[in-house]
Amino acid sequence: MGIASCPSSITLPHGKLDFPVYLPDATFGIVRTIDSNDLLACQIEAVVMNTFHLMQKPGSSVIQSLGGLHEMSHWQRPIITDSGGFQAYSLIRQNPKFGSLQENGLIFRPEGDKSKILLTPEKCVQLQMAYDSDVVICLDDCTHVDASLEEQRLSVDRTINWAKRSKVEFEKLVKQKKLDENRRPLLFAVIQGGGITDLRKRCSEALLEIGFDGFGFGGWPLDGEGNLLTDILAYTRQLIPTGYPIHALGIGHPENVLACYDLGYGIFDCAMPSRDARHGRLYTFSQSPEGPNAGLTGKWLKYLYIDDDKFIRLNQPISPYCDCPTCRQYSLGFLRHLFKMNDSLFLRLATLHNMRFMTQLTQRIRQRGQA
Ligand SMILES: [Zn+2]
Repeated sequence: MGIASCPSSITLPHGKLDFPVYLPDATFGIVRTIDSNDLLACQIEAVVMNTFHLMQKPGSSVIQSLGGLHEMSHWQRPIITDSGGFQAYSLIRQNPKFGSLQENGLIFRPEGDKSKILLTPEKCVQLQMAYDSDVVICLDDCTHVDASLEEQRLSVDRTINWAKRSKVEFEKLVKQKKLDENRRPLLFAVIQGGGITDLRKRCSEALLEIGFDGFGFGGWPLDGEGNLLTDILAYTRQLIPTGYPIHALGIGHPENVLACYDLGYGIFDCAMPSRDARHGRLYTFSQSPEGPNAGLTGKWLKYLYIDDDKFIRLNQPISPYCDCPTCRQYSLGFLRHLFKMNDSLFLRLATLHNMRFMTQLTQRIRQRGQA
């Protein structure tokens, strides 16, 4: 189903991405505990960095002095930059003392800082273009699926208005910088509307009319119990013609990647796989990739908790199906020892494994699709 409704790849200034693709969150320019060579060893194809966080730390002028995001982080493959809309949701909507949402943009008041930061749709595009991002994402007004109808309406109005302004600014900068088709980043807009089909439809139609290279599914993608909002994800996908790539923003739980790919989503990002690794939750496949459906049948995902006493003397890798640097060189017993010692090496080795699990997952999904 997803195979027919999702393009198979996109080409960006810093390389081509085959779908589905998983991007780790390198929020401040790094995936915590690992570097760009480690990412390549795990076959990571691209990363997501965050416009809002980077403009504060290390700051956009520092990034410019260090040669831009690619040079600073020694990462020559694609970078997608997040707009900051989600940060407005997670900071401001949860606690108004951190700022406010206004028609002109977002006003942030980071804790312990008297200064305020204004992020307008135009500034958001300017920053992402200056960072030399591969995919520029328009500033949006993100809501929770349980927010009131009035809030969802307002969020859609604002998101459309900000997307319009972003497009104007983007085209102006593309002209100014004389970027040809190969050097021009793609511009994505975010579809809001919470769980309300009419609003998702209105938002999609308005954004399609303005014209973008791709779209993101916006809003918190899980219900109160942590279940994926499959119905509204499916509904929203079919509003957009099949040739457009869609980024399932913030979605990266392995089971959700598979489910959303089957709905027609191609791009995924999430901080959870690397965070889980640091906390000792390691991802494994229960079946070989040679099995039916590339081993993605039944309960195909299995967690190992490194704290478990059963690993103390286990001289085996985390997974027999994994070829990551950690599984090739170290046993579960040794990893458990590092974890118990609070050694920083554990954080790196565990992150390497979960990153490779995610790229193996996307490879298995492609392999399954070709079968
Ligand atoms: Zn591994």
